[in-house]
Amino acid sequence: VRNFFGPIEDVAMFLNSYQSAAAALEKVSGVLEEEPTVRDPAAPVRLSAARGALSFEGVRFGYANGRTVLDLAESGQRDLVLPAGQTVALVGTTGAGKSTLAKLVARFYDPSEGRVALDGVDLRDLAPADLRRAIVMVTQEAYLFSGTVADNIALGKPDATSDEIRAAARAVGADAFIESLPDGYATDVNKRGGRVSAGQRQLISFARAFLADPAVLILDEATASLDLPSERQVQDALQRLLADRTAIIIAHRLSTVAIADRVLVMEHGRVIEDGTPGELIASGGKFAGLHAAWEDSLA
Ligand code: ATP
Repeated sequence: VRNFFGPIEDVAMFLNSYQSAAAALEKVSGVLEEEPTVRDPAAPVRLSAARGALSFEGVRFGYANGRTVLDLAESGQRDLVLPAGQTVALVGTTGAGKSTLAKLVARFYDPSEGRVALDGVDLRDLAPADLRRAIVMVTQEAYLFSGTVADNIALGKPDATSDEIRAAARAVGADAFIESLPDGYATDVNKRGGRVSAGQRQLISFARAFLADPAVLILDEATASLDLPSERQVQDALQRLLADRTAIIIAHRLSTVAIADRVLVMEHGRVIEDGTPGELIASGGKFAGLHAAWEDSLA
């Protein structure tokens, strides 16, 4: 596996901390690392059909009683704007603030200073149900809940029909392996969990996200070692999943960075480089160095 940074992690279980499946999540809330720490707005603003434009305006953030770990206000661009539909890869060494930025977008936390806005609406003012529908985060520990494969995909849309579930699975290339399971879509993932590989679990979580169809998808790319066909499958699935929505990917693979419209290189809580992959390679900065080292490692 071509990891951009750091060692390969062997992630045996995947946890999908998936906001739109609130009911299902309650059942497993004990396994969730992070509960939202934010308050519901007193006068919620409705946004029933979000376009998915994100802006960070003078954002600073530190975890409770901690130092500032995200300081976009001090980055070159005080106002960072991600237009609707853009695929943005976040790269940077461990601790740079990538996950923290993602968590602010999913509103696990509110900024200490400044604001994060969706289509111009401060996330703090947005009706929680609309926020959960519009912004979905898939973490690298994508988790399969007890229940069938179909149940697991349907978490993305609890009232989904079986046709919709299958269509979502097809869209991300998950249907072939699902059909090959002992009971197909009715296979109990826990009982036969051993038959579902890490890559396949990731595809199921992609199908779930595809079905949820959020305007903004935040993806913490698995660093798990996927066998090669799965990795290629996952890349194809990603392309389908990212189309027609804003995407923020915490990227660990060169192949993923390559499909991004834009790369933000983070260091010490700041964005130190911002451009297309091609621009950043040409500019000869940090990303260019990482890219070259990566290519060498593949040679
Ligand atoms: P990685 O690639 O390792 O996931 P990252 O770029 O995503 O790193 P963050 O996880 O955003 O970095 O962490 C940024 C800083 O915030 C780090 O110094 C980290 O130790 C700290 N941090 C992260 N989560 C918490 C938390 N829940 N409480 C306190 N500090 C935290």
